[in-house]
Formats: sequence, C-alpha cells, structure tokens
Amino acid sequence: MAERLEQLVDKLAAEHTLTDGEYRDLIAGRTPELAERLAERAVAAREPIYGTKVFTRGLVEISNYCKNDCLYCGIRRSNKNVERYRLDPDTIVACAREGYELGFRTIVLQGGEDGHFTDEVLGDIVVRIKETCPDTAVTLSMGERSRESYQRLFDAGADRYLLRHETASPEHYAQLHPAEMSWEHRMQCLRDLREIGYQVGAGFMVGAPYQTVEHLVREMRFVEDFKPDMCGIGPFIPHHDTPFANEPQGTLELTLYLLSMIRLIHPSVLLPATTALGTIDERGREKGMLAGANVVMPNLSPVAVRKQYELYDNKICTGEESAQCRGCLGLRMTLIGYELAIDRGDIRK
Ligand code: SAH
Repeated sequence: MAERLEQLVDKLAAEHTLTDGEYRDLIAGRTPELAERLAERAVAAREPIYGTKVFTRGLVEISNYCKNDCLYCGIRRSNKNVERYRLDPDTIVACAREGYELGFRTIVLQGGEDGHFTDEVLGDIVVRIKETCPDTAVTLSMGERSRESYQRLFDAGADRYLLRHETASPEHYAQLHPAEMSWEHRMQCLRDLREIGYQVGAGFMVGAPYQTVEHLVREMRFVEDFKPDMCGIGPFIPHHDTPFANEPQGTLELTLYLLSMIRLIHPSVLLPATTALGTIDERGREKGMLAGANVVMPNLSPVAVRKQYELYDNKICTGEESAQCRGCLGLRMTLIGYELAIDRGDIRK
C-alpha cells in the first residue's frame, strides 16, 4: 500500500496527472513520509524554473466594504461589528510607491466588492500606479465584475487578476455562499479574465467547512485543466463573527501536501505561501517554500487599517510597518537558503 502511494508520487512528478481514483488515494493516504517525498519532488520540479528565488507581491487592502455575504469571511456584509474603511486614491498610490521603494515589482489591490470602486475610480488608480512605479505589475483582486469592467481595467493597465474560485465543486460552493452567489458566474469571470489577456490567479481554502477528499480531487483536476497562472491556497481560519466561527481551521500538513501536489501538476505555476499559512504556524511560509511554493504576499496597507481587513482571526503582521514586513520575510527566506527577488515575478512558461 505505502509502496503504491510512493509510486503515485513519482508518477505525478513524471506525468503531471493522475486519475481521480489515484488523486483520491494519494490525498486520503497522506502520511509524513509521503509528504516528504512530495515536497522533495516539488522542490526539484520548481528548481529549473524558479530555483530558490521568491517572488513578492505587495498587498494593499483598499476597502473592507463588501456587498457579498460569504459565510466564511470576516468582512461579509452581515458582520455589523466591522468598522468599515476605504482608502483614498492618494493613499493607495502612496502605499504602492512605498512598496516600489522597498523592492516590490508587483502591487496587488485587494478589497471587498465595494461599489465605490467603479471602473473610473479604480482605472485611474491603476494608471497612477503604473506611472509612479516603473516596470511594476498591477494585480487586481476586487471580486466579481462584468466582462466589460474587466476589459476597461485591463485597458487602464492592470496586468493580472486574482479571483479564487473558492471550490471547484458547485454544491460545495453553495454550502459556503448565500443563494444569490453562483459558482457558474465565478467560473465565467475566470474565463473572461483569461480571454481578455490577464494573467489569472485562482485558488481555494484548505479545510473549508464541508470540504471532503472528493472535493480536493476536483481541486486537483481544476488545476490540471484550467492551469491558472497563480494558485492561492491557504488554510481556512474561522472568524469569530461569522456563521463558521466554531468550525475547525485547516491544517498546516494538508496545506503543504496540496502545495506540493499542485507544483507537480503544474510545475510553472506561481504558488504563494499565504499569510493564512503564516498565521496557523509561526514558520508556515518557510515550510510552504520547502513544499514547493515560490511567492509571498506581504502587506503594504497603512498600519492603521490592517486590523480592520480581518478576513479571519489572528491575522499576522497587523502591527508592523511595510518595511519591517519585507525585512522580516527577507530574513526568514535567507535562513532557509531562499532569497526575495526584486522582480515582477511573471509566470515562466
Ligand atoms: N473580494 C475579493 C477578495 C477576497 S479576500 C474576491 O472576492 O476575490 C481573498 C481570499 O481570502 C478569498 O478569496 C478567500 O479564499 C480568503 N478567505 C476569506 N475568508 C477566509 C477565512 N476565514 N480563512 C481563510 N481564508 C479566507
């Protein structure tokens, strides 16, 4: 049995695909030994493409207003205990410029679905960041919008879009979201974004409520079929003011295992060791790299609002300045033999 699963790891490394049954067995049969084998193969697969260079994305959390009500998310509209904020354009551009000076060559603007950020308002901010920060990619992560809107923002200069699909299984999506949100629409957004020409990031939470091994098989299949340029996966962490307050959080071990599998399925993928991973384990992001990740996304938001952009409990780095965050991560990476790159960090195809 153990031997058969070891062979599946080697098969995944060689062929970048498994059958549904094989994915199921490999996930369900997870052991520390298999995790180690997967991580070793994942690092070896990343090595010729990215080596030990870690790409950085500076995250500016521009608004915590949101019209959606995702059951897992701390800034869902039903949460009346959140103090809402939105950053003004000057502040956003200043955060981006500060990031640029610290060595970031990708700026991510993320927020709730806030009607204030029309195509005009957001497009102007994109234009200003592109003017202020030479050779820098701008990534948007502002949720579901119309195809026309995505097109206008792309025309304004946005390079990439991050929209986690959240789950590759429609019935699981319905358990995590209110009835007015649709899995089909979210998937359509991802297809639109790709057709327009964005580099596209997708992703899902590990250990989300109701998630089964069968769902994870579908996640692996999704990565194989859609081949997102980036795939953000991190543990689900409950937020105290949501319906999922008492659900267990996702585990470090399963997250690392899936990171390694995704690297083997899609060797050139941009794979972040997420802030959520750093939240559940003090060395989570370092362990992510050693499992095959190659991206980190530290916070560039003004310290004054960091605690208010609370998607889950105990988020790290909410009291630190941006420079400290980059310095701390740089040191962490050096200590494991990796180094932060000053680079846009495009996918190498
Ligand atoms: N409004 C944007 C940005 C969402 S926040 C959008 O719709 O894409 C970014 C990601 O945080 C989400 O896609 C989700 O996967 C993750 N997230 C939200 N709540 C979380 C929680 N409780 N634990 C872990 N990750 C969470």
